[in-house]
Amino acid sequence: MSETLPCDVIVLGLGPGGEFAAQKLAEAGLDVVGVERDLVGGECPFYGCIPSKMMIRAADLVAEAGHADQLAGPASLTPTWSLVAERIRKQATNDWNDESHVIRLRGAGVRIVRGEGRLAGPGRVRVGEDEYVAARGVVLNTGTSPAKLPIDGLEATPYWTNREAMKAGELPASLVVIGGGAIGCELAQVFSRFGSDVTVLEVADRILAVEEPETSSLIARLFADEGITVRAGVTIDRVDHVDGSFVVRVDGADVRTDQLLVAAGRSNNIRDIGLETVGLDPAASSVETDGRMRAADRLWAVGDITGHGAFTHVSMYQGEVVVADILGSDSLEADYRAVARVTFTDPEVGSVGLTEARAREQGLSVRVGHAQLPESTRGWIHQVGNDGLIKLVADASRGVLVGATAAGPAGGEILGLLALAVHAEVPVATISGMHFAYPTFHRAIASALEELDLS
Ligand SMILES: Cc1cc2nc3c(=O)[nH]c(=O)nc-3n(C[C@H](O)[C@H](O)[C@H](O)COP(=O)(O)OP(=O)(O)OC[C@H]3O[C@@H](n4cnc5c(N)ncnc54)[C@H](O)[C@@H]3O)c2cc1C
Repeated sequence: MSETLPCDVIVLGLGPGGEFAAQKLAEAGLDVVGVERDLVGGECPFYGCIPSKMMIRAADLVAEAGHADQLAGPASLTPTWSLVAERIRKQATNDWNDESHVIRLRGAGVRIVRGEGRLAGPGRVRVGEDEYVAARGVVLNTGTSPAKLPIDGLEATPYWTNREAMKAGELPASLVVIGGGAIGCELAQVFSRFGSDVTVLEVADRILAVEEPETSSLIARLFADEGITVRAGVTIDRVDHVDGSFVVRVDGADVRTDQLLVAAGRSNNIRDIGLETVGLDPAASSVETDGRMRAADRLWAVGDITGHGAFTHVSMYQGEVVVADILGSDSLEADYRAVARVTFTDPEVGSVGLTEARAREQGLSVRVGHAQLPESTRGWIHQVGNDGLIKLVADASRGVLVGATAAGPAGGEILGLLALAVHAEVPVATISGMHFAYPTFHRAIASALEELDLS
């Protein structure tokens, strides 16, 4: 028998932002229902950020050991994938069990409902036969799934997405990665460093196509040095699975591989979730929101589906904005000028705000400054593995940075300083008046500033 169940707030989809909002709202005393069809916590802890970064930590150690003989003495390391797979299974994902997330949310007072939820009007969500009715409203956090590519034959093959890659118990002898974005590049380097023969196929004319072209060239060059084949600007005609191998037809010729990883884009999980019942377009590619993450009457949206960057930190930040709006405490307005992104390749590529091309498209009076890390004192000391660069993008009319890239060892950490500068609109003159610790990698920012001519 169907039931109508009242509450204060329903969180539909418990990814990082939804989980955060559900916990905080429940701790504030609201009656919160969280609806999840899969694992509470979403993609990041089970199939995304956390397990992939555990892989990367191990792969970086393999590379570092390989460098040791040049600076410290011979080191011997036998890359052992089972250690990585076991660490992910036990430490990262608890064998893909969300118990710890559930305990935390229940501890805060959230009622968790397992199942596929669907909007059924303002403040209403249907799960199976039951309808939950929220006095305050619904927070939508349904996230993304790997995009299905329109490549002939592909769907009939047992290809990997990020989900199978995170569960890989064994290393494929050869791996083709379709997609040279952040996820594709990170995983390509991991599998290569552990011993797979890896080819990256990218239809755009360069890998990491949303980043500065300088960083695409840097990573492509280093991948080539490591033995990873990168083919950009390709056309992928079809995929077959024959006698246990994949056959990928690329630019008219066949590439055979033991495993195929498709890491080319993500689709928002907003089809068939009842957007039309709250007056929104069910065919839209993302859910539009205002600065307080309001999308419709009694509906807030957070996370990848909002189209402001598919990152855990964006989802959680938006969750904070929603909590503030629902509790009426601080009035936070979401601000995306300084969204930081880090591709955890080695070297890491950290970037924030606008690329030079984007800034020019916006008609800003663009000035850029560069520095190469190998030319810095710290780069010289570091030697092997010192590749990287700093690129600053300034708006000369306002005298502030609007974007920056820090690629190199700990590039994502160096980025923090630049993200603050972009976020707080610190005048370039103020940054130029600072002194940076010697001999750090981030001191190269001073050299990049020297190249910026704001006159
Ligand atoms: C391999 C990989 C590596 C990544 N690395 C990073 C990284 O290093 N740093 C970073 O910031 N980001 C990273 N990301 C991105 C990050 O995982 C996401 O941005 C993050 O999970 C936030 O997503 P979200 O909040 O939109 O929801 P998601 O995490 O996608 O979760 C949405 C939840 O909603 C549930 N759901 C969907 N529809 C329904 C429904 N109808 N009913 C009930 N439940 C539903 C889903 O089951 C899911 O649990 C990575 C992603 C991948 C795939």
